[in-house]
Amino acid sequence: MNNITPCDCHLHTNNSFDSETPAEQQVNRARELGIATIALTDHCDILEWSDANIARSNAQAIELNQKYDDITVLRGIELGEPLQDIEETARALGLCEYDFILCSLHNLSGGEDFYYLHPDEEQAKDLVRRYFDELLETVRWNEFDSLAHMTYPLRYITERDGVPVDMASYQPVIREILATLAANGKALEINTSGLRNPGGRLLPTVEYVRLFRELGGKYITLGSDAHVPEHMAVGMAEGIAAAKAAGFTTATVFINRQPVEIPFDE
Ligand SMILES: [Zn+2]
Ligand SMILES: [Zn+2]
Repeated sequence: MNNITPCDCHLHTNNSFDSETPAEQQVNRARELGIATIALTDHCDILEWSDANIARSNAQAIELNQKYDDITVLRGIELGEPLQDIEETARALGLCEYDFILCSLHNLSGGEDFYYLHPDEEQAKDLVRRYFDELLETVRWNEFDSLAHMTYPLRYITERDGVPVDMASYQPVIREILATLAANGKALEINTSGLRNPGGRLLPTVEYVRLFRELGGKYITLGSDAHVPEHMAVGMAEGIAAAKAAGFTTATVFINRQPVEIPFDE
């Protein structure tokens, strides 16, 4: 039994466009690490999703969950940009039964993934403002369980490209995002993928996890966003330390779209 990582609820497999890892390899890596519960959350970026890939990911989660009795494998998706095509979103949500809907925003409406953008400081200001505004609209939509990597653009703008972003000016909209999540009983993800980069940080950092708690947030999900087995659970100790520092005593997994809390070890 692993005392460090109780769960990892953000994982990709070769049913995502950007991973070559078979689902069973991810499951076996989790078993090696003694992680009791994982969720497969393959990309369902709504402007270019694949029915076949999502259905396959879902079927593999069911099959692997039945195959191994030392791990629970949950049927998730990472639903990207749901408001950018609401009809396709309804279709994706109706395609399968899911345990866990992880919601994310990788690109602004009509724009490219932040991964491909290299804004200067002035452009970054505007992009990040529009990102949080669109994220607030997405959170108000509310048809999901947890909000993934809330500070996603910073992964590239600041941490990769070194362009400074003054977060203070976004405090009101971020507060509104976190308050809305809390009021709706939704979870905030602590995504540890940033820690894999030099100088990288949690997405979001502990100050926002704390603010979420202060605003009444009850549920935290943990995700390494691993696309290869080697990245699974990397940074989880830091993620859990941030959750605890913010006052959370449990991580949450979603089973049949219902929150199930797992207490942290003392
Ligand atoms: Zn993502
Ligand atoms: Zn992801």
